[in-house]
Amino acid sequence: MPELPEVETIRRQLAPHVEGRRLIRTEVLDARWCDPLAPSELEAAVAGRLVTELLRRGKYLDWALEDEVHLVMHLRMTGNLLLARPADDPGDGPPLRVRLELDSGHRVLFTDPRRFGTGIVLLGDQARDAYFASRLGVEPLGPDFTTDALREMARGGRAPVKAFLLAQQRVVGVGNIYADEALFRARIHPLRPVGTLRRAQIELLRDAVVEALRAGIAGKGATIDDFRAPDGAKGSFQDSFLVHRREGEPCPRCGTTIMKLRAAGRGTYVCRRCQRPPRR
Ligand SMILES: [Zn+2]
Repeated sequence: MPELPEVETIRRQLAPHVEGRRLIRTEVLDARWCDPLAPSELEAAVAGRLVTELLRRGKYLDWALEDEVHLVMHLRMTGNLLLARPADDPGDGPPLRVRLELDSGHRVLFTDPRRFGTGIVLLGDQARDAYFASRLGVEPLGPDFTTDALREMARGGRAPVKAFLLAQQRVVGVGNIYADEALFRARIHPLRPVGTLRRAQIELLRDAVVEALRAGIAGKGATIDDFRAPDGAKGSFQDSFLVHRREGEPCPRCGTTIMKLRAAGRGTYVCRRCQRPPRR
């Protein structure tokens, strides 16, 4: 599942090709993508519009079009956005759900084998802001993600810290990979109730989340199953995981064997020596 670094990788690669271009044709080939809006309605709302800016909020991509029309996409489990140049043969790629055609002749293809990805049109910046505000917490790479803000959110929380990180209503964009990597960096066990973290640990966690996400972006995302950048390349961050998916391998810090457990319903990887389990 694409997390913040994967979506940011897509945004950075697509932006120079789409910003300042006009969407001359949009085809929604799978009506479920924009349900309950009919594909023809979505297509009409964005038809012929200039792409002002390609933005990201959490794991959402926001195509800001002229006149404050926003085409907001979520990739969910297996969605990808691929850039096809004018001469590219469509070929036998993964199942295509949406095709956007730009006045440059480039096409942006929303592929999605499992069909959980979604799209919505929001009219006006205010509607866009309200949509995100009701779903999403603080942006971890933005100025509001401070130690004090994180401490405030964690205060009194009984949820295990990993579940806390995965809930997008608090901090956005952190999924299974980056939660494991951040908690290892901060030496915090994923099952530790978030409200029991000391101030120094909150500070470490805040920095670790930022570092793990930045490392993911530097590696152009992680490809475990489906993720591809718009140019079709796989990410490389999976080769730099410290603990995630490294069960049975030595901890890069202390050499203790990394183990797998379940936290927040997800396969979770820890070093039991660096990340001391909470007392029962
Ligand atoms: Zn260790």
